[in-house]
Amino acid sequence: MAISDDVFVGAIDQGTTSSRFLIFNKDGEPVASHSVEFKQIYPKPGWHEHDPLEIISSVEECIAKAVEKFEQAGNPLIRIKAVGITNQRETTVVWDKQTGEPLNNAIVWTDTRTQQLTRELKKRPGADKLLELCGLPISTYPSVGKLLWMIENVPKVKAAYEKGNLAFGTIDTWLVYKLNGGPQKDVFVSDPTNASRTMFMNLKTLQYDDTLLEFFSLDAKNVHLPKIVHSSDPKAYGCLESGPLKGVHITGCLGDQSAALVGQKGFSPGKAKNTYGTGCFLLYNVGEKPVISRHGLLATVAYDFGDKPIYALEGSIAVAGQGVKFLQQNLNFIASSSKISELANTVEDNGGVVFVTAFSGLFAPYWIDDAQGTIFGITQHTQQGHIARATLEATCYQTKAILDAMEKDSGQTLAELAVDGGMSNSDLCMQTQADLIGIPVDRPAMRETTALGAAIAAGFAVGVWKDFDELNNINTQGRTVFRPKMLKEASAKMFARWTKAVDMSRGWTG
Ligand code: ADP
Repeated sequence: MAISDDVFVGAIDQGTTSSRFLIFNKDGEPVASHSVEFKQIYPKPGWHEHDPLEIISSVEECIAKAVEKFEQAGNPLIRIKAVGITNQRETTVVWDKQTGEPLNNAIVWTDTRTQQLTRELKKRPGADKLLELCGLPISTYPSVGKLLWMIENVPKVKAAYEKGNLAFGTIDTWLVYKLNGGPQKDVFVSDPTNASRTMFMNLKTLQYDDTLLEFFSLDAKNVHLPKIVHSSDPKAYGCLESGPLKGVHITGCLGDQSAALVGQKGFSPGKAKNTYGTGCFLLYNVGEKPVISRHGLLATVAYDFGDKPIYALEGSIAVAGQGVKFLQQNLNFIASSSKISELANTVEDNGGVVFVTAFSGLFAPYWIDDAQGTIFGITQHTQQGHIARATLEATCYQTKAILDAMEKDSGQTLAELAVDGGMSNSDLCMQTQADLIGIPVDRPAMRETTALGAAIAAGFAVGVWKDFDELNNINTQGRTVFRPKMLKEASAKMFARWTKAVDMSRGWTG
């Protein structure tokens, strides 16, 4: 193959179930990639952990393998100008500030062990003021509860906190710190899209907020919090300290959902994207001022490229592709996730089955911490196919509920929904989505938009791309548009049944 004189940007995509490294050219095309699945640790019902060191080794392996493929295709390494990071958000890592050793497994964003703590926090004086400051409702989802739980329940973490030796980080911070070599260089930073998920960052100042820290009784002298820097910055994130890309600067960092919005080029107010991964997250660009939701959505930072931060309204769904994995791994319905549509297509409709996939309670717009996964409407007639359909539909219904809330909060109606993520590979799921929301669903051919977003953030910092206009032609070919086909009455009837099922899934304590 001919050697091109193109320049390239690498992107680390550290997701909930897999780590990836992709190398993009200036046209936004991935020219080499590698991905590795890593261990999901479920020590007790509702608990979900990752090994922080395995996260690092999986990323290092992906970089090494992708770079090997890149070189084998005749591309010189010198043309990789920068590396960007995108990551699962909220997942919380704690480590010893002196040695860089993790003090516990990371608590993953889906984990619900903080249910009781969450109930207590909701009763504290001032609880009703937090949404305005940080954009998030109190729930098991943000990092803060996970951190408080570890300080309270893990002796090593408690001891480090009392000695003032406890470092806190979301996955972006942990990756940057370790890839820079750990305590020697001590590059200890986070970007606002990640920091806005902790619940102790002020959404307007983009700095840690004393009122928030005091509310959670967190003493900033005892826990080291990473410095919040721009999402795109030539110097703040240091450089890779080992491996084949040693010396290449990390110049972009975005939480995964923000990265997907950037990768879908959702740069103007009114643009939205929905990413169907392990969970599903709809982000709607609201521009330069945060919009605090009154209808169960989150206010968050979309990206901060150094000029003015851009904000988004977010609808978060805890279980999307994870429901498909559940049918595969727990119920043995399918051999792999990609077989779900085939199984769902063995029946014509859901046969009256509704599956509220509330394995981590229900997130937006409902926020029911004690909702439990429940299947309604089972009869003698029910087949695996009906349950497969109901599993795909669960995410589509929640997306519909989120869009309804978004319309109320923003006063705008969405014209079209851009989608991506593993579960968006299912044509049946995307058609159902269009039917339920009554607007076209637009899926790109290249669905690594999360990684592309990280590459864009990194590329901007080093001049690979200079402005948004340069990105206009990226990822425009081969898009599939799913148009609504179902009669409005039929979709309204399905949605009404879902709403009833959600209500009945509350408060089940076994
Ligand atoms: P993450 O970044 O959260 O790990 P991905 O975007 O890689 O997520 O998507 C992985 C999820 O997508 C898995 O939970 C898997 O079950 C689901 N998935 C993958 N392929 C398909 C498919 N063809 N149909 C439906 N779901 C799928």
